[in-house]
Amino acid sequence: MLYNSTQNAKEIVSAAQAIAQGISKDGGLFVPQEFPKYDENTFKALLKTDYKGRAKKVFSDLLSDFTEEEISDCVEKAYTAQKFGGENPAPISYCNLDGTTLNILELWHGPTCAFKDMALQILPHLLTKSLKKKYDGKTAVILVATSGDTGKAALEGFKDVEHTKIVVFYPVDGVSPMQKHQMNTQEGENVRVCAIKGNFDDAQTGVKKIFTTPSVAEKLAENNMLFSSANSINWGRLLPQIVYYISAYCDLVNDGKIELGDKINVVVPTGNFGNILASYYASLMGLPINKFICASNSNNVLTDFIKTGVYDKNRNFYTTISPSMDILVSSNLERLLYKLSGDNDEVTRGWMNALKSEGKYVKAVINEKFYGGFCDDKNTEATIHEMFEQDKYLCDTHTAVAINVYKQYVEETGDKTPSVIASTASPYKFSKAVLEAVEPNATLPETEFDMVDELHKVSGAEVPAPLANLKNKTARFSDVTEVNDMENYVLGALGVD
Ligand SMILES: *Cc1c(COP(=O)(O)O)cnc(C)c1O
Repeated sequence: MLYNSTQNAKEIVSAAQAIAQGISKDGGLFVPQEFPKYDENTFKALLKTDYKGRAKKVFSDLLSDFTEEEISDCVEKAYTAQKFGGENPAPISYCNLDGTTLNILELWHGPTCAFKDMALQILPHLLTKSLKKKYDGKTAVILVATSGDTGKAALEGFKDVEHTKIVVFYPVDGVSPMQKHQMNTQEGENVRVCAIKGNFDDAQTGVKKIFTTPSVAEKLAENNMLFSSANSINWGRLLPQIVYYISAYCDLVNDGKIELGDKINVVVPTGNFGNILASYYASLMGLPINKFICASNSNNVLTDFIKTGVYDKNRNFYTTISPSMDILVSSNLERLLYKLSGDNDEVTRGWMNALKSEGKYVKAVINEKFYGGFCDDKNTEATIHEMFEQDKYLCDTHTAVAINVYKQYVEETGDKTPSVIASTASPYKFSKAVLEAVEPNATLPETEFDMVDELHKVSGAEVPAPLANLKNKTARFSDVTEVNDMENYVLGALGVD
């Protein structure tokens, strides 16, 4: 099982190399050259095992240069009941809205209360094993651009992991107070956190630029370091996400909600396109998915793309109450485009060059299996309110976007296929917006943590321990930098300037 770059099919590497390197030298993203195919018997075996067993199967089929022991070690360390609050790290809540069943796949039971933990609790283990295979003795420098949740999840995953250092950049006004507090209180000797005076796309572009600047790479090499990535451009981020779609399907079968072989839809609140792409990869492996429903907030560049075939980032950028989806350049779309072009690196490179130079590209037909929809802040709040009124279910702002778009989809198409809705964050990560939605007429408490308490009082929903524990922590980090100074900041943080 080998991997190649989306922008140069001749750039072929092993899984360990793809994970250690993060991104290809040509700027392309690593993709598997082929996918394993799961038939009925494979699924029957998966039905009988638990989340960890399913993860081991998927990992070993896609990481052929890792031994069974190595994979088992990674999986056992990552998905402990202690870290994820139970034996199943990704349980399904069966809910009801206006008579429609919602199968809500809760992906936020990990240590930072966002779905990113599903990948970032295991990536450091995959990465340190990959480094050993390919670059023994070197220190990996993880640069992260975050719209809020990746940063904290990466910090928590990498803190004090040997032979790694991590620097996280976030948009100064683009994350929630809880997200900011989560990051700025991060523990660990090998971590740095810095705000940038720009939006998420500026942060992401800045990080990509540092990655591909030869003089920076040379400085690192002189100091026995190399860059790697914990953003969802890293294959080690995507791979763990394939597992939970397969596992959710098995759980639906085991719970008697569907029969083995039945088709499902997936509904995914989308930003950088990693999560929904993982479901697409699961379908290439044989998971019977009927529709991929891509839900966006007011930054609806993907909705337009799916409807028209034109990707155009030249538009207003909105700061919304679902900040982890405030993105105009969805990096992982490149991997889908590569697949849809019939694994054509030249065509993919052309689109990506157009995006770089004009902020725009045209792909005449996007696969009819994708449906795109969006939901503004007002409707997001209305959906949180409805879910709570009708079913006493408290959902966060991102999940509400997905539920709202799913509702639009069902109204438009009448499609009754059972659907899995990816729930990507704990409502307590976005307490203010959720509280306002649940109780539109109440006066808001002053501080973030008072809002958490109030939301708990109103809803009765349990406050996740990692968030409750933050209350008494003081901030360690307060750095702010200009976008143009990110490179200097990184070199300074590493002590190699
Ligand atoms: C990151 C994130 C998303 C977007 O996921 P992508 O894989 O980037 O599309 C959605 N919701 C939450 C809460 C997130 O943290």
